[in-house]
Amino acid sequence: MLVLKFGGTSVKDEKQIHKVLEITKGRLKRRPVLVCSAHKGITDKLIQAGHKAATGEPDAGPVFEQQRAVLKASGCDHDMLDPFFREIEDLLRGISLVREASKRSMDYLSGFGERMSCRVIADYFTRHGLKSEAFDAWDLGYVTDENFGSARPLQGYELKMQTEFNRRVGADVIPIITGFIGKTSAGEHTTVGRNGSDYTATCFAAGLGAEECEIWTDTDGVMTADPSVVKEAHTIPFMSFAEASELAYYGGRVLHPSTLIPAIKRKIPVRVLNTNRPEHPGTVITETGGDNNMPVTSIAYKEGQSVITIESTAMLGQPGFLGRVFGVLGREGIDIDMITTSEISVSMTVTDASNLNTAVKELEQYGRVTVVTDKTIVCVVGKNVKHQKGLAAKVFSALAEVDVNVEMISQGANKINLSFLVDDADIARAIPSLHRRLFS
Ligand code: ASP
Ligand code: MG
Repeated sequence: MLVLKFGGTSVKDEKQIHKVLEITKGRLKRRPVLVCSAHKGITDKLIQAGHKAATGEPDAGPVFEQQRAVLKASGCDHDMLDPFFREIEDLLRGISLVREASKRSMDYLSGFGERMSCRVIADYFTRHGLKSEAFDAWDLGYVTDENFGSARPLQGYELKMQTEFNRRVGADVIPIITGFIGKTSAGEHTTVGRNGSDYTATCFAAGLGAEECEIWTDTDGVMTADPSVVKEAHTIPFMSFAEASELAYYGGRVLHPSTLIPAIKRKIPVRVLNTNRPEHPGTVITETGGDNNMPVTSIAYKEGQSVITIESTAMLGQPGFLGRVFGVLGREGIDIDMITTSEISVSMTVTDASNLNTAVKELEQYGRVTVVTDKTIVCVVGKNVKHQKGLAAKVFSALAEVDVNVEMISQGANKINLSFLVDDADIARAIPSLHRRLFS
């Protein structure tokens, strides 16, 4: 069995869905199972409609308009999705009455994109000679916890998934399964988080014991750097799970950060491919990766970070100081990415600075607290990073050359990444210069 995941741009419209059909046709011998996103733009429109409804204005117009255009261009019956449309209207009306878009309601609402796109794709495939059927992931055993907005499948979901899959999916049918969404055991709708269909796909690949999981997107695999910033960026043919995980986490834009977790557990290779250039070999991610001798595999960055620094002489010889600091952050639900410490100060980066106020007040009992914003974490990833003499010198001189200042330097304990912080405004100079030095 082969799990193929097609993202929003890959199923955007009839032209793209046709490419998906051709790609699937070429893989029939491997028993393809598809996991699909909503048409690009629909999830955003659903979420906007939810927020608007919460101000008292229920308006599904923009969602319906785009979805109807895809229906029409794909040759589907015009009323095929009417039951979904009615449910969306009811839900928006409900939100507008209570004037509140709770996480729970927003998960219910944003999941309609995948439910509708999978119906369109299955209908299109079937009319073009590939017998297919759409499935909501929860009907195939994708049962999650109650973390609305970032739900994860329950422990042991694999067995239920296999049972439901064997029971419901006919041997002659290609299942088109919704990415992104799930249900709790009590039947509440959940989502795994924005851009989470990659993760749904690897969960299915792991649960069903697939030979491989293909992630079809709109770039030629995983690149050495963001091609919108570095013209010379090129595809990385092989990567290890560890390298790809660091990269996804630190802003490599191709994979959702959680994607590799299920694949690692079951050692299932993940291949990243381009729907618009299916002949390109893309990137294969496996346990060991390639045996290339590249000093570095890739450069990733994550913009818009904030840094909290606590300075205090009370840290000197104070066992438990950091424990107390992290205790505060943990209680406030603040997620830290990068940390550097010295004898008298500790600095930490966070992606979401919106809920820092209470934490900062509490931390002030331990020392002087400052928060600075508009920073970018740059992460140089590669399994050879740990063996490289002089790599740091190369990295920092490449930055000095283009007059970029560096703060908070850290080499991950797994020693496959070297991370540091620069100003958001310096990214357009920093990344190309680093890429030149490390890849040419
Ligand atoms: N449709 C969802 C989103 O836009 C999930 C995905 O595309 O992976 O976030
Ligand atoms: Mg994606």
